[in-house]
Amino acid sequence: MDLDGRVTVAVEAPQHAALGTLLDYASEQPLAPGTLVRVPLGRREVPGIVWHRDAALPATAAQLRPLAEVLGALPPLAAPWRRLVDFAAAYYQRAVGELALAVLPPELRKLDPAQLERRVAKLQRQAPAAGGAVVERPALTAEQSAALEALAESAQPALLHGVTGSGKTEVYLRAAEAALAAGQQALVLVPEINLTPQLEARFAERFPDRRLVSLHSGLTPAQRLRHWLLAHLGAADLVLGTRLAVFASLPRLGLIVVDEEHDPSFKQQEGARYSARDLAVWRAVDAGVPVLLGSATPSLETWQRVQEGRYRRLALEQRIGGGAMPRVRLFDMGQLPREKGRDAPALAPPLLAAIGARIERGEQSLLLLNRRGYAPVLQCGACGWKSGCPHCSAWRVFHKADRTLRCHHCGFTERVPRACPDCGNLDIAPIGRGTEKLQEQLAALLPGARVARIDADSTRGVGMLESQLAEVHAGEVDVLVGTQMVAKGHDFRGITLVAAVNPDAALFASDFRAPERLFALLMQAAGRAGRSAEQAARSEMWIQTWHPRHALYAALQRHDFAAFAASQLAERRAAGLPPFTHLALLRAEAKSAAVAGAFLDDAAALGADQPGLTVYPPVPPTVQRVADVERMQMLLEAPSRTQLQRFLAGWLPALQPLRARHKGLLRWAVDVDPLAI
Ligand code: ADP
Ligand code: ZN
Ligand code: ZN
Repeated sequence: MDLDGRVTVAVEAPQHAALGTLLDYASEQPLAPGTLVRVPLGRREVPGIVWHRDAALPATAAQLRPLAEVLGALPPLAAPWRRLVDFAAAYYQRAVGELALAVLPPELRKLDPAQLERRVAKLQRQAPAAGGAVVERPALTAEQSAALEALAESAQPALLHGVTGSGKTEVYLRAAEAALAAGQQALVLVPEINLTPQLEARFAERFPDRRLVSLHSGLTPAQRLRHWLLAHLGAADLVLGTRLAVFASLPRLGLIVVDEEHDPSFKQQEGARYSARDLAVWRAVDAGVPVLLGSATPSLETWQRVQEGRYRRLALEQRIGGGAMPRVRLFDMGQLPREKGRDAPALAPPLLAAIGARIERGEQSLLLLNRRGYAPVLQCGACGWKSGCPHCSAWRVFHKADRTLRCHHCGFTERVPRACPDCGNLDIAPIGRGTEKLQEQLAALLPGARVARIDADSTRGVGMLESQLAEVHAGEVDVLVGTQMVAKGHDFRGITLVAAVNPDAALFASDFRAPERLFALLMQAAGRAGRSAEQAARSEMWIQTWHPRHALYAALQRHDFAAFAASQLAERRAAGLPPFTHLALLRAEAKSAAVAGAFLDDAAALGADQPGLTVYPPVPPTVQRVADVERMQMLLEAPSRTQLQRFLAGWLPALQPLRARHKGLLRWAVDVDPLAI
């Protein structure tokens, strides 16, 4: 490329490696940026991507090691893709090479040039489909038409705000149709793998002669490579996937959709902790294409941007078919007579009666309890022993089905002891209630009813979630007990009652985002009930609560997201929390909490005198010890994104040398815009 044959290559070196991840090599031939190569690094040979030309470098070609191999069959990764990676690496404080290679399909690096050439040639023969098949589509409602017109007018990011069943997916389909008709590709992001088959089916049905591929972690490595290549070669028109799909290479990108944009799953929780939602917006703006953020309960970050006029709000106020949202009934658990020494009943008698009436009518009910297992802890009645995890600062959960005590943090599992390990007493009892116990209690309370349970335990095997969902759809289940897993996305036609069994904990959680998440979960759960107008009339959402007058529930009862958001935003503004400030979390893991804390203290000292920046003292996270590793974290707060970014970019490289001073420090990492603090 340059006269001296030097290329700068992004390689995957460890995050804090001293040498950086953009390295210079000598090349005999000119290479376009974005070309996949293999290069020597130390004694190894590693994959890399030619990153950019840098004519300002002195000509030192003589000292450079030559490239090992050029994988020229793969068309270069285009400039917009490299810009996205550059931006994400800088924003989330990771090395460019590390991120660039981490977001490519792992299988890609295993192919030699000849294998890759055969693969690419085979896929390239599958030219993009022609389109034009005539498929039945519903006539748009006035609101849908208005949303699509607005979308066609400008590429300003848009929030598509509408409850479940308001026709958001139809808007995605039409927006995608417009992009495809213009010869472009559409990228659709969903929060969870479980939701992809359903959406995939709807897109496939609508676009039978278009090539649609999915990208998520549930694919085999070979499938993921194939799908990624089809997108990169421009042979796939529609790419549907989870957060990692935001990095798909799309040469003809024309539209990005982020469905359920508020969902925490869009934030990657390890490595480069990126927000796929935020990157989707950046990518769309950079490419000048529209981005559609869909939700019934937008994230407060997105909502604030709408208030500021930076995003548009396209509203779908009516449910399709005119169905209302279910009536929300708050049941005051304080009204129940308390029997001394006994737990409150699982379900209040009126709720139980309402479920019974539905069983008689052949309708279904959905009970939400966000705690899997039988009971969160076992306790000895004599000495007070509790089923703690020896490796974590957490209780082990009692799973009755296989009589185990399982740690949900480190996975440590043992058979339930027959007697108390401390005093030998035989009377060890479960405390509290999880989904397993709720299912058992319901079966006893509703004799003859078919009570099913869906949670992470019941769906561990391949295809188990699908078969359990199919049973619910086929009407073979009267009452479904589940965790938040079932509250999302699934289109259950027969459900006319949804109940949140014990949602109060989130009202008073220390995490400032807990109320936002609870409101979203409950709205989404409410959306499961009564999706047809005729059912909607008798659909109900029950909330069992000790705080029936709480403002969050009052807003929920009115289905009033705007009021809820306004009150939350006022609180956040007063408390100096996002979206009015910008946060980063420095996390440290060590063999002892003292070491992790000392490292963070030293780090704080290096950055203490930054104007505008607040560095809070190190604190333990909610669960301090996991798998025998002690964790501490330190919060940084800045009034603007730029200030935070500028500070981090200068500060983090200075932390690396600190490491040597703290024996027993295992890892440290920064989380920009952390979701949970
Ligand atoms: P959401 O994505 O907001 O939950 P959907 O787009 O899935 O809503 O729409 C809900 C239901 O209404 C679906 O069964 C869909 O096929 C149907 N639907 C959507 N738009 C229309 C329309 N304009 N006319 C008739 N039916 C529609
Ligand atoms: Zn005991
Ligand atoms: Zn554990």
